[in-house]
Amino acid sequence: MLLILILNAGSSSLKFRLYEMPAEKLILKGLAGRIGERESYLNINGESVKTTIPDHGRAMELIKEEISHRLPGFSEKLKAIGHRVVHGGDRFIRPTVITDEVKQKIKELFDLAPLHNPPNLTGIEAAEQYFRGVSQVAVFDTAFHRTIPETEHRYAIPENFYREGIRQYGFHGISHEYVGKQATERLGNTGAKIISLHLGNGASITAIDAGQSKATSMGFGPLPGLIMGTRSGDIDPSVIFYLVENQDYNIGDVKRILNKESGLIALAGSNDMRDVEQDYARGKPEAVLAMEMYARRIKKYIGAYYALLGGLDALAFTAGIGENSPLVRQLASKGLDHLGIVLDLAKNINPQAFQGEIQAENAKVKIYVIPTNEELAIARKTYTLLYE
Ligand code: ADP
Repeated sequence: MLLILILNAGSSSLKFRLYEMPAEKLILKGLAGRIGERESYLNINGESVKTTIPDHGRAMELIKEEISHRLPGFSEKLKAIGHRVVHGGDRFIRPTVITDEVKQKIKELFDLAPLHNPPNLTGIEAAEQYFRGVSQVAVFDTAFHRTIPETEHRYAIPENFYREGIRQYGFHGISHEYVGKQATERLGNTGAKIISLHLGNGASITAIDAGQSKATSMGFGPLPGLIMGTRSGDIDPSVIFYLVENQDYNIGDVKRILNKESGLIALAGSNDMRDVEQDYARGKPEAVLAMEMYARRIKKYIGAYYALLGGLDALAFTAGIGENSPLVRQLASKGLDHLGIVLDLAKNINPQAFQGEIQAENAKVKIYVIPTNEELAIARKTYTLLYE
């Protein structure tokens, strides 16, 4: 029996889960939130206490103290720490033991993932400081998409840019892989064709063939593809030139608008799908439009990926919205009967009662609702890398 700590460091948060492996037993989970802000707090197993947390180092120290307090012998049993790292670029295509060289490479990728890789590295450094001698492993969100062929991941721009690393990378890979694997197992067919839909605050959709990612909706960065909480998803780049050249916006403004002020918040006034659903139910026109656009975008990708895969065995919905919104699942699969995608409306209301399988009887394509578990996926990968 050994313990593996999973860390997911964001700019103002440090989430953790502690697993006993290989039993995959969740021992503790929690989060240090609003790090560096006035009202920072530490939450362990759902219970929050307000406390001062100026930086990720202090957050790590507090988490270590709290776990040690609840779990005597913790430090001796802790054998590895698995970190979620968003961008692995071309270099990191599998889970990797962290060395000084690996940290340097993660740093070199800061420009490609300015919001994510810097806090990810801060989390790694904090863990090194408070857990000296414990193996640290980085698991990359881009790695699953390494199998996307050049015909798909290249942009049709001059080749020198491609050589400099300007290409599609894709994100949410840990989640798409986890959900795709579960769907594949359920189908009992290792060659299955699956479309996984990770619909959270950020959202992406992936075409999976025989366990491999073949296309995904995010790109060089996390902006393209589906309509998201605050991101626009697909947009004609000409809009950016127009705003900068003719409307007096600078490039920083446009970046903020497309990343933080677009998507559901722009269309419906909230980036929380629960709010949008409530307004939709009341018939508020902005919410109706937002939901229809949201669902339509998903359908466009389902159609595209169906064509690329040359068929489809299952759709798999996951993440906050995919797991919890019957309305989104219903609208996103509506009118796709000709592709064999037919939802059972009653099952869709309460998927748990049907083991997460909600397609209509005799429908050709299975429709699954599969809770994602990125932390468990990272724990498995960390364990496999170090011990198998
Ligand atoms: P993140 O990308 O931040 O990890 P999550 O996967 O937690 O996001 O998803 C957040 C989204 O899930 C929010 O838009 C939230 O409104 C939505 N969500 C959570 N619960 C429900 C629910 N019961 N019904 C509809 N949407 C929900």
